Amino acid sequence: MALLVKKFGGSSVATPEKILAVAQRVLNEKKPDDKVVIVVSAMGDTTDELISLANAIADPACNNSREMDMLLSTGEQISISLLAMAFTKLGQPAVSLTGYQAGIESNTAYGKGKILRITPRRVISELATGKIVVVAGFQGVTPDGDIITLGRGGSDTSAVALAGALQADVCEIFTDVDGIYSSDPRIVNTAKKMKEITYNEMLEMARLGAGVMQPRSVEMGKHYGVPVHVRSTFTQNIGTIIREEYTVEEKEFIIRGVTHDTNVAKIAVLGVPDRPGVAYTIFSNLAAANIDVDMIVQSVRSTQNNIIDMVFTVAQPDLIEAKKIVEKIGKDMETVGVIVEKNVAKVSVVGAGMLGNPGIAANMFGALAEARINIEAISTSEISISCLIQSSKVKEAVNAIHNRFFSEKHDTVC
Ligand code: ASP
Ligand code: MG
Repeated sequence: MALLVKKFGGSSVATPEKILAVAQRVLNEKKPDDKVVIVVSAMGDTTDELISLANAIADPACNNSREMDMLLSTGEQISISLLAMAFTKLGQPAVSLTGYQAGIESNTAYGKGKILRITPRRVISELATGKIVVVAGFQGVTPDGDIITLGRGGSDTSAVALAGALQADVCEIFTDVDGIYSSDPRIVNTAKKMKEITYNEMLEMARLGAGVMQPRSVEMGKHYGVPVHVRSTFTQNIGTIIREEYTVEEKEFIIRGVTHDTNVAKIAVLGVPDRPGVAYTIFSNLAAANIDVDMIVQSVRSTQNNIIDMVFTVAQPDLIEAKKIVEKIGKDMETVGVIVEKNVAKVSVVGAGMLGNPGIAANMFGALAEARINIEAISTSEISISCLIQSSKVKEAVNAIHNRFFSEKHDTVC
């Protein structure tokens, strides 16, 4: 007997026919005594449509975050009830549960709730009666009993967290791509599908722009040690397994992926006085506003006048607020000015193998230099290197870097 959690994304349940096909597929694959929990997203583009509906009414100057979550959570409630009906039609007893009924408790951060605890008592008792349990993804309940959503793509996190809490054998994420690729296959036609990838590498790839999984869901998988299998709803092919660290023998992998993120913006504060506490003032004010700062470069503008330039990046949705904050600080400090730029993008290489392998950064910079692409900022983590470039050059940059690291002689990387 196995306990399986299977998550189906919006495109997998976009129409009544697709919902029936999902139910049929689950039953075809289910062994008689398997216990199965299904987590679903809202049908197709429902979440986007609900957002447009709200935008047609709500005053953007008012805080509607609680009502927004109340609204958005309805998308998943449509798909759970319909999928439960599909199972019933096929002769399989099933029950749908909201996040609240499934015991998914979250903090009170509307629109970006974090799961605090899962008490899946009801899920366990329903499974024990032989039912398939269909749980609404993307939602939880706050300590005050309000509905909360877990951020876009949050159904992945619901599924992996539930799999962890239930100690499931595996969490399968069914989606419209057939696994994790070394780069976005829509941009790099030589991108290779990976059989396996570690939680840490996948987390870094997701954080740096690989859109397949919500980063938080990978964190959950790592926390609980649940293997996550990302695969296609529309084929029977094995996808990619996200799992623990490699064994020593497997450590031949150097670079696992090349990602890109165009959702970034650059802020340059020019002519900042070069004295202690300046960086602290800028970045503590941004942190207080909950704005994540990413690449930071400080460069000398004039040694004579003791002034520097400070350049950093933020996510594009945070740009307006970050600019306001920095302009205010800039005025107080009598800086030369603040410049913002949206037409930038971040390209990154990710791989745990870079730890003991010098020359990865040089290789990446070499690929960009050969393609005559200018690097505006650089940042690194233990297992990644990122370069900021003009967004018009993303496709070229990603292909150039991918070619460098995934040429024939490196075929074994996947
Ligand atoms: N329906 C939500 C969204 O579109 C959650 C999800 O799909 O995972 O973001
Ligand atoms: Mg969706």
